[in-house]
Amino acid sequence: MEVTNEIIMKYLRVEGVVHAGIATPETLEGGPPSTDLSYVMPSAKSAIVFALPLNLDAIPDYLGKKDRLTYETNYIRVSSLGDGIAVKLANFLKVQGYPSVPLAVNEIYRDGPPEDKKYMYPDISLRYLAAASGVGFFGFSGNLLTNDYGPAIILGGLLTEAELEPTKPLDKSENYCDYYNCLQCCGTCPSKTLHGQDLVTVTMGGHEHQYGEKKYTLPCAFVCGGFSGLDRSGKWSTWATGRFPLPLTDEETVAVAPMNLERFNKRPPAPGGRYHTFSPNPIYYVCSNCQLICTPDKEERKRRNNLVKESGVIVQNEDGTLEAMTPEEARKRLDAMAPERRALYEGEVEPLPEEHKLTEEEDFTHKL
Ligand code: SF4
Ligand code: SF4
Repeated sequence: MEVTNEIIMKYLRVEGVVHAGIATPETLEGGPPSTDLSYVMPSAKSAIVFALPLNLDAIPDYLGKKDRLTYETNYIRVSSLGDGIAVKLANFLKVQGYPSVPLAVNEIYRDGPPEDKKYMYPDISLRYLAAASGVGFFGFSGNLLTNDYGPAIILGGLLTEAELEPTKPLDKSENYCDYYNCLQCCGTCPSKTLHGQDLVTVTMGGHEHQYGEKKYTLPCAFVCGGFSGLDRSGKWSTWATGRFPLPLTDEETVAVAPMNLERFNKRPPAPGGRYHTFSPNPIYYVCSNCQLICTPDKEERKRRNNLVKESGVIVQNEDGTLEAMTPEEARKRLDAMAPERRALYEGEVEPLPEEHKLTEEEDFTHKL
């Protein structure tokens, strides 16, 4: 049976996919190393990439620190759905006579020396494939945005020997991100990873794509890993319970990670959580603010930023449950804890080595 784009798209729609595209080595030419399909499948002729929607209804209560579990559960299950669809479609194509290899939604990283492995480079970057094939477009945050779900999607994909017709990247006029005229994704980024970003242009198959280039990536991993999440203002936090100083550079992160990991592992388990390739203990979804704040509606982006800031800070109760409260109430709760319990969340720590501060130019807070 000859496999066509039409069959692939029909197959994916049945599975609940909202956007899909086809990239080829030619349409990815000039892209970064993670667009090299031959790294995973030397004989690949095409890459199929698709987007599954997250539950948009779960986002406001997640950002407003009312309900973490509904969002986390949805994220985990849609990610697994993406893995499953990739496996099923790869098998379908194989049976039709086209060897194919499914790609993982996440958690498969490139081998390399230890100094590279900590950056967790993916074997193939689905977001580049998605931009090159018109599934969506890059935003300032570096997330892949779609015109209906914004970046509230899970990307999945597979590689195949089938010679499919590549789909075109979206026209720039379809990109709702207005970069420095928005910057709302920076508003509640506790790691400050997105602040001070310059725009970088990546050319794939002769088409240019722009997004903000992170100067450091590990501070985001530190916050997303749930070690600490109290903003420097002390007025709001992510869902993370730690209140230790947040590193701003990769070097600072490497220096403070062991202490933070030790405290993290001693905290009582919170509801929910999942196992990650790199963690024998459950970890929790606690941030993704840059992803979830960004929606096609500009006013809604501002409202969501306020949701994070006005819902205060998280404190962990003795039974492990998480509770949002005002910074003043949190102070009282922490002061009332026994010293050894309080030390799991805050306390005297070694100052950050060569502590880096954002310059006025790098700090985008005043532009929001
Ligand atoms: S929040 Fe604004 S600047 Fe950031 S990615 Fe979304 S639209 Fe672009
Ligand atoms: S996930 Fe959180 S810490 Fe990381 S860049 Fe986004 S907002 Fe910042």
